[in-house]
Amino acid sequence: MSRVALGTEWALDWMRGAAASLSDHRAELVRLDREIGDGDHGENMDRGLSAVLAKLDGLADGATPADVLKLVATTLISTVGGAAGPLYGTAFLKASGAVAGTQELDSGAVVALLTAARDGIVTRGKAEPGDKTMVDAWTPAVDAAEAARSSGADVAAVLTAAADAAAAGAEATEPLVARKGRASYLGERAVGHRDPGAQSTALILRAAAEAAA
Ligand code: ADP
Ligand code: MG
Repeated sequence: MSRVALGTEWALDWMRGAAASLSDHRAELVRLDREIGDGDHGENMDRGLSAVLAKLDGLADGATPADVLKLVATTLISTVGGAAGPLYGTAFLKASGAVAGTQELDSGAVVALLTAARDGIVTRGKAEPGDKTMVDAWTPAVDAAEAARSSGADVAAVLTAAADAAAAGAEATEPLVARKGRASYLGERAVGHRDPGAQSTALILRAAAEAAA
């Protein structure tokens, strides 16, 4: 079934799925962050998405996808902490702004949402592709989403393309030396380890695709 657009139910399902996924992968993200950081990324993200989950039912009737994304942003900013909290918070805030007032998101709106999220992270954290950060998952995701959209893919396929590219991007951080965040203190010792924020991005975007499937 080809879907033309995604509404508030999708945004809610995305966040429910992301909360479940970050909880399931908490230990894995802790391990990745222990290898090249301070070991808190799994806890930070699980705590943040659990807080989001607890607030979703309190959204007003008639909430738009942008309202969901804005609630996610403010909740992540106040609960995640570390480097990732403000970065993901900014991502969801910019994503919300990109689709403000739109009830049904078509593939163009989904690309705009993802692009705004990535741009927000880059503006806030100043990382470039190849710096071994979450940008290395977000940027290929945005590029793949746009390529899928321009070849006529439906919204679900656009999100699957984004999720696949984010997963590949996260894996591709393994051989890199980090140039931003705590892992940058390690120099060559970060080589051979996957960036935890790129991995959590891949999980979050997979949840977005699964919610649309
Ligand atoms: P902290 O590093 O403060 O302990 P987390 O462990 O929650 O915070 O998050 C670490 C992740 O944040 C990294 O794996 C990386 O993906 C991301 N990150 C750190 N600094 C930046 C930055 N300047 N730009 C983009 N992402 C960053
Ligand atoms: Mg950490």
